[in-house]
Amino acid sequence: MAKRDYYEVLGVEKNASEDEIKKAFRKLARQYHPDVNPGDKNAEEKFKEINEANEVLSDPDKRQRYDQFGHAGTDPGGYGGFGGFGQSADFGGFGDIFDMFFGGSERRSNGPQQGSDLRMDLQLTFEEAAFGIEKDIELPRLENCSACRGTGAKAGTQPARCKKCQGTGQVRVTQKTPLGHFQTIKTCPECNGTGQIITAPCPECSGRGKVRKTRKLHIKIPAGVDNGSRIRLSGEGEAGTKGGPSGDLYVYLGVSSHKIFERDGEDILMEMPITFVQAALGDEIKVPTLQGYATLKIPEGTQTHTVFRLRGQGIPRLRGVGRGDQHVKIVVVTPNKLNEEQRKILREFSASSGQDNYRSQGKERDKGIFERLWDGLKG
Ligand SMILES: [Zn+2]
Ligand SMILES: [Zn+2]
Repeated sequence: MAKRDYYEVLGVEKNASEDEIKKAFRKLARQYHPDVNPGDKNAEEKFKEINEANEVLSDPDKRQRYDQFGHAGTDPGGYGGFGGFGQSADFGGFGDIFDMFFGGSERRSNGPQQGSDLRMDLQLTFEEAAFGIEKDIELPRLENCSACRGTGAKAGTQPARCKKCQGTGQVRVTQKTPLGHFQTIKTCPECNGTGQIITAPCPECSGRGKVRKTRKLHIKIPAGVDNGSRIRLSGEGEAGTKGGPSGDLYVYLGVSSHKIFERDGEDILMEMPITFVQAALGDEIKVPTLQGYATLKIPEGTQTHTVFRLRGQGIPRLRGVGRGDQHVKIVVVTPNKLNEEQRKILREFSASSGQDNYRSQGKERDKGIFERLWDGLKG
């Protein structure tokens, strides 16, 4: 059943003032209130329609969205609408009409309920996590059935008020105990607390009011996320019940390892091999970075496992500005294939060198490994 235009429902012009809308609503609400028309299905329908129209048109934000997008702009799926007072108005007494205007509606257990949150895992490459990326993801989730707008009732019908609980979703149970009678309130077993009985279920969703749909979402992953980072997409979870808001979607990120780089928070660690000749004589080498190469000066006499820092070549900071550093750990590689001439040169070098060639110039803690060993043997 197509929805009627809200202005038409209230019988006002498109440019009606807030006051005119309020007056029109009050008049119609009195006329069609279920208490005034007991058992009249048409009046009940009409009353719901009026409430829904009023909820949208009396709220400047919702009215603007409705003007712009029509029903699609305001309807979260259920006929109950937004704040839920369309619901309570169905069941309350005549005085509720006035409470409604002054925010006197109370939350009921069978009122709007937020949809469930969803979780999905997303694996990123090292670079994607470092620099951020936009991705399209597909997400199966429960959405409100469009055929019945989430009510679960076949189009053209409405769920009936549960007779057992009078639509409140709760029943009072009196228990006799030796100490006296106790009244407890329980969820209505007839309607499972919804306050409604669906007599003609919607064929599209078998009366559940929800259907599973796969939805495409475009998500932006900011630069600097790490393993275990979580992105919350507000309102992208499962649809709410009775006009309640949707849940949220949480995307948990995993980051794949890299062939060269290792990550430590905002810093990148890597090992850089150099020859023992480069280490001894010093050199200027090219070091791979996340975005290309950097030049690194290796000083004469560099020891293996010395770590150099390339400032600002790490991961962009997720919160804050700038980037971490890249730490380059030097690994001195010993040649394992020499020709006769090279062996000769090295023997000559060895013959000409002694303890003095391996003494560190620096402080005690910078002493070379040979020196420390010799010191240890002396003691
Ligand atoms: Zn349906
Ligand atoms: Zn019930």
